[in-house]
Amino acid sequence: MREDWHDRFSETPDVLKSVQRQQTVVRVLDLEIGGDEFITMAGPCSVETEFQLMATANHVRRAGARILRGGAFKPRSSPYAFQGHGLEGLKMLAHARQESGLAIVTEVMSEEDVPLVAEYADILQIGSRSMENYSLIEAAARSGRPILLKRGMVATVADLFRSAQLILDNGNPNVILCERGIRTFETALRNTFDVAAIALIKQISHLPIIADPSHAAGHRDLVPALARIAVAAGADGLLVEVHPNPEKAWSDGEQSLDFAGFDSMMDSIEPYLALRSLLMPSKEAWRRERTLSYREASAERVMEAVG
Ligand code: PEP
Ligand code: MN
Repeated sequence: MREDWHDRFSETPDVLKSVQRQQTVVRVLDLEIGGDEFITMAGPCSVETEFQLMATANHVRRAGARILRGGAFKPRSSPYAFQGHGLEGLKMLAHARQESGLAIVTEVMSEEDVPLVAEYADILQIGSRSMENYSLIEAAARSGRPILLKRGMVATVADLFRSAQLILDNGNPNVILCERGIRTFETALRNTFDVAAIALIKQISHLPIIADPSHAAGHRDLVPALARIAVAAGADGLLVEVHPNPEKAWSDGEQSLDFAGFDSMMDSIEPYLALRSLLMPSKEAWRRERTLSYREASAERVMEAVG
């Protein structure tokens, strides 16, 4: 890594790659986040009903998702909007895990709720609005559960790294970063998907980075394109909102994919995933060999041409 990145992010040295640490792999159940496998986390914005959650869990699992998302405690823009089922929602998530075998990621919004949410969730999500809530982040870190840290909507990469550093400082190495779009002067979409941040984080940090194309776009039509861009930028996985009937969703329906939409998104990222797997560091030797044989073949062609 170039020396000036160390200067620029000198406050958060443990978030940066070092000679000893090139890539963190977060282990959840039998999964590795930040490893060779691209991990898709999918599910509804909010846990609404047993039927909604189970139908979604079964569908996304069959389509290739490895982790089920769903909010039981919901941070909402309006205080009058649905705030989540709380403990009832956590119980529905636990039931869905039991039935589907999927790991669970769900948001924790307050310090007092950490022990309860940690009892039910495999990964604790720190939402965009909480990214700078240091007392919440410390409590979540100390629960020992892996943390999915979403970038604040007005946070810089340095701000995101400061919150990640705090989790590491509290003895929890299992941090997954998440780019979910930021606020800029552009208002055509809900947020501006900062794809360069994904490429930058991949280059300078050892922490896994996943992309949330749903909150970044705010419109379901754009979600597959942003998902493909995320793969190409080097993301380690996706966090995607899926609902059996998005028109009737209690939150974020306009950006949620229905089941057919999720299937077609998964199909459309397939060629990008194939390319990604060829570029994995574990394929380094294979690539070198191919480059060599390509060069040799070209040299042979040149020799033939010149006689
Ligand atoms: C969510 O994941 O549903 C959510 C509320 O996300 P964010 O914190 O990124 O707005
Ligand atoms: Mn949402």
